Amino acid sequence: MSLKSKLIEHIRETGPMTVADFMGAALYDPKDGYYATRPAIGGESADFLTAPEASQMFGELIGLWCAHEWDVLGKPAFNLIELGPGRGVLMQDMLRATQRIEGFHDAANVVFVELSGPLRDEQAERVPNADWVARLEDAPPGPSLIVANEFLDCFPIRQFLRDEDGWREKLVGITEGDTLTFGLSNALPAPDEDESEPGMVREIAPALEAFMYEVESRLHAAPSRALFIDYGYVAPEGADTLQALQRHKKVDPLEAPGEADLTAHVDFARVARVARDANLAVGGPITQSQFLRALGIEYRAYTLSKANPGHAQRLARELRRLTRADEMGALFKVLCLSSPNLPPPAGF
Ligand code: SAH
Repeated sequence: MSLKSKLIEHIRETGPMTVADFMGAALYDPKDGYYATRPAIGGESADFLTAPEASQMFGELIGLWCAHEWDVLGKPAFNLIELGPGRGVLMQDMLRATQRIEGFHDAANVVFVELSGPLRDEQAERVPNADWVARLEDAPPGPSLIVANEFLDCFPIRQFLRDEDGWREKLVGITEGDTLTFGLSNALPAPDEDESEPGMVREIAPALEAFMYEVESRLHAAPSRALFIDYGYVAPEGADTLQALQRHKKVDPLEAPGEADLTAHVDFARVARVARDANLAVGGPITQSQFLRALGIEYRAYTLSKANPGHAQRLARELRRLTRADEMGALFKVLCLSSPNLPPPAGF
């Protein structure tokens, strides 16, 4: 039985489900969820292309950023943790770029936080000496540098729609013909001070808030930093950001749950506020373009092109892709959370 049929049966028995429950099932169902079965990142036949898959320069600069921050921490033995490493390309590039930094590889204990079995196998091909855990809290204690690219966007969201009567939650239900369809809950009146306009959508990510506790506890337990890169917004636009991608094309999120990647934009202002409330130091959010330029991506592209003139055009294309506002440069944001009392991180 397909995941879609299972969800239809479930809804028939228990009623409509939240978008978050639907998204959770579509991504993480242990048997038929997207990540358990067919995650496809990078390349033509894949569903989506991420920054490390687009250019080696991305991982190289982040690797050097980590080496710099390790120096700032006083060069301790530490956990180099990546959340949701995909195919392992980012860490592979990070490790290659830092090969000649004295002591860095010896000090680093590489830990991958990954749920997907097939992706763990791919990661092991590129980074054989890593350790794998299912949750951040299972990583060994101690100073940590945490990186996460396109990880926060996987956390399931609940969606609320404002109309003339107030707020309604968007739900996933079934039609008489037994297909999945979006519907709305009864309305809750909007509070007096609510300035939202009818038609606006608000999104919240309860599991992301819970995950933030794990980050906070680690950053309070030992001097550490966590670098998050993702597409998202700083001021909510009131739009629906749920998106399903299959082979680089947007598809209907309800069409074939488990077969397409489902994501939502990250509310960076919210993540930053939660972190500040927990007494963490917050760098950013800034745009990916600002961050990569501050780390010297233009110079990196220039030196690589000089060394390999045959690749100059490709490198120029990759540079544009990562930094231009109409490509990945502006929609993607970078946020760095740090233990209290550390100096500001490089690039912010
Ligand atoms: N960082 C990679 C892949 C991004 S796709 C890149 O930039 O190319 C999202 C990754 O996060 C996948 O590896 C997926 O399996 C993993 N993932 C998603 N939700 C997760 C969770 N709750 N816990 C651990 N890993 C998760």
